Amino acid sequence: MTNEELWQAALNELELAVSKANFITWFQNTSVADRQDGVVVLKVPNAFAKEWLEYKYHKFILKSLRGLVPEIRNVEYVISSEIPPLLQRRRRERGLSPQEEQLEFKELLVDRETNLNPRYTFDSFIVGPFNELAHAASVAVSKNLGQAYNPLFLYGGVGLGKTHLLQAIGNEIKKGNPRLKVLYTTSERFTSELVSSMQSNEASIFKDKYRSFDLLILDDVQFIAGKVKTQEELFHIFNSLYEMSKQIVFSSDKPPHAINDLEERLKSRFAGGMVADIGAPEYESRLAILRSKSAGKENYINQEILEFIASTVQKNIRELEGALNAVVAKSKLSDKILSIPEVKEMLDKNTQPKRIVTANQIIKCVADFYDVTEGILFEKTRKKEIVRPRQIAMYLLREDFNGSYPYIGQRFGGRDHTTAIHAFDKISKEVKKNGQLAEEMKRIRELYDYSSVN
Ligand code: ADP
Ligand code: MG
Repeated sequence: MTNEELWQAALNELELAVSKANFITWFQNTSVADRQDGVVVLKVPNAFAKEWLEYKYHKFILKSLRGLVPEIRNVEYVISSEIPPLLQRRRRERGLSPQEEQLEFKELLVDRETNLNPRYTFDSFIVGPFNELAHAASVAVSKNLGQAYNPLFLYGGVGLGKTHLLQAIGNEIKKGNPRLKVLYTTSERFTSELVSSMQSNEASIFKDKYRSFDLLILDDVQFIAGKVKTQEELFHIFNSLYEMSKQIVFSSDKPPHAINDLEERLKSRFAGGMVADIGAPEYESRLAILRSKSAGKENYINQEILEFIASTVQKNIRELEGALNAVVAKSKLSDKILSIPEVKEMLDKNTQPKRIVTANQIIKCVADFYDVTEGILFEKTRKKEIVRPRQIAMYLLREDFNGSYPYIGQRFGGRDHTTAIHAFDKISKEVKKNGQLAEEMKRIRELYDYSSVN
């Protein structure tokens, strides 16, 4: 099966699994850019589509691809515009065939041996007070491999530059000494590789492989929480590498001691070298990042717009990039630099919840998001996977629809108003503390916009 046939077949399935509006919004103009060692790289039109596919549809996509080709282990997403410009130009000049295109694409994007993306370098990384320590530690590690801080453990929220820094270390090492063996991988990939090596009785190959690196980079290590076998294996690999003074670098969304369901002995290994956090960037850093990312796009953007984006989009750098790309794309389309009100309107749409919404819409969006039927939300079941969406729907009905508690209780299968109050209190408290939930809430609210056209 060619990549094109594979993706077409997967799309046919996906079309049945999601609503038409969502299908058109998120799957249009997607294609397979690369398929290698069980990893499918999907090319998507923009940062928003990328985020959505990763966040909401990843499981679906992976499942349908696996249904077609069982060897497929993972799906990654790249934005079409991030295909390096050099390649785009050459492609235009020579009119490459799709096969050639894929080859070059892969060559220029992610290195097969190390999994490193050449885009992530120290040069392209902006340093500010929020990431100074993490940056300095990374540079130190790349100058004194295995000697400065071992392991290096970086932690921070999503989209703040952990992967970028980790890969920059790898790229720097490869640049200085191409012979050194470097591997970048995520803890999920590490786990699935371990599992499949065990299934095919090749665990010793796996172990030998991981003991052979001069630099092992393990991204998002929080995902090994609760995975006993993976933790055990990682512990031994860690010890072997460490004893040989080989460098190990980790990232996580929280510091070692805060990762639940992680063996104590691993926690103490993780924390045994240098632990550095990356916080949220302040205004000046956000502006500096936008300036650097907008270099070469002066025809589509100006200082005032950059300042406006920097002051409006505060959460993380990925969103900052997304907003910038969206504004540039829009201004390319309309062939002029946008006015501030136009930019504001765009960003409002993408960052802020829409409040004009009906109760039915809210319920539908919540059900859609958590992949449950609307009907089951009204039933008496106490299953966790239903109770939670139900409470979230109740909360949103109060927040975004202004429903009274008795109304909300009534709406959910004639429950008492105290149930609605309880749900509202619980979720309001949690959403302040739990970033994941806040993110989910944001996604659900984004769905409001599309639910009306379904
Ligand atoms: P994380 O791994 O923490 O979720 P990433 O490293 O993937 O975050 O960063 C998200 C995006 O923001 C990437 O495109 C990355 O290149 C960019 N980015 C993050 N930090 C910086 C920085 N300090 N300077 C420039 N770009 C950055
Ligand atoms: Mg990352």
